[in-house]
Amino acid sequence: MKRIGILTSGGDSSGMNAAVRAIARSAMNAGLEAYGINYGYKGLVEGNIFKMESHQLDGIIDRGGTILYSARFPEFAEQETQLKGIEQLKKFGIDALVVIGGDGSYHGALKLTKLGFNSIGVPGTIDNDIPGTDFTIGFDTAVNVATEALDRINDTATSHQRVFVVEVMGRGAGDIALWSGIAAGADAIVIPERDYDIKAIADKLTANREHGKDHGLVVVAEGVMSAQDFKEKLDQYGEFDSRAITLGHVQRGGVPTPKDRVLASRFGDYAVRLLLEGKGGLAIGIHDNQLVATDIIDTLENHKHQTDVSLADLNDRLSF
Ligand code: ATP
Repeated sequence: MKRIGILTSGGDSSGMNAAVRAIARSAMNAGLEAYGINYGYKGLVEGNIFKMESHQLDGIIDRGGTILYSARFPEFAEQETQLKGIEQLKKFGIDALVVIGGDGSYHGALKLTKLGFNSIGVPGTIDNDIPGTDFTIGFDTAVNVATEALDRINDTATSHQRVFVVEVMGRGAGDIALWSGIAAGADAIVIPERDYDIKAIADKLTANREHGKDHGLVVVAEGVMSAQDFKEKLDQYGEFDSRAITLGHVQRGGVPTPKDRVLASRFGDYAVRLLLEGKGGLAIGIHDNQLVATDIIDTLENHKHQTDVSLADLNDRLSF
């Protein structure tokens, strides 16, 4: 093996650059060449591919976003398009591909693997919703950003005796809502993985007021409903001076936390070491702080990300 290709795909997440750096540096350290592919699968099919030089990796470990850019390219679900991608990889003499991205991006890597091109998936998404790993690159940074925002909102909620309903990212997974909600001392956390009762939440906020706590914080995961819709429903069950806020894309950006940088460095280096051992078709992950690699086909087809719903129960016990 001589050349490894690297691409980032889907929603960007802080720490992707640290992963790109780790893959490229580990490859170079082992005497291989690293090839960057711009704009995810779109750039792959278009041949937007370049040889990475070591100096291009300087000063990127602390940068959010991705220097390889990202793109949504639904056409890559078609086999004809995947074959064009493989043609480009062969044209550049690339022997294996490392894909950094979320669930959708993993499916692209899976298809390439099924077509015989050795591909490894590195989990990079703020949502933490990929099977085969306890944590994904960018999740910790997103939780930090969301928690800081919730802390700020708590200040104004307290000063004005208001109830804030805050929507955080997480289309299918409530992980960001759970971690940031617990960290900010939310009165309620609403996630797609668990049933919720808006009237019960309203009753709790009303009871809080009667016991001297006249402000409130409800964190809602994007996948449940919008903050505005939730606020309107909540208002039907109580007299609140309520406000709805959607944190949105601020959760995607920013300087990656040391935890995300270290995780990305471990994942990237591990992916290269596995390829050097002749192993591919894998999904990289971390389980109980140990690096793990699972069959990408089995991981995607037979497993689902398991949100730790016991954290929601924990919050119920601590918020009153
Ligand atoms: P995030 O969830 O963080 O936004 P993601 O990787 O899940 O990240 P998607 O938009 O779902 O984001 O997927 C990224 C890209 O992966 C798509 O634009 C497409 O190019 C490719 N992709 C998605 N699904 C498939 C599939 N079933 N087969 C082949 N390629 C796919």
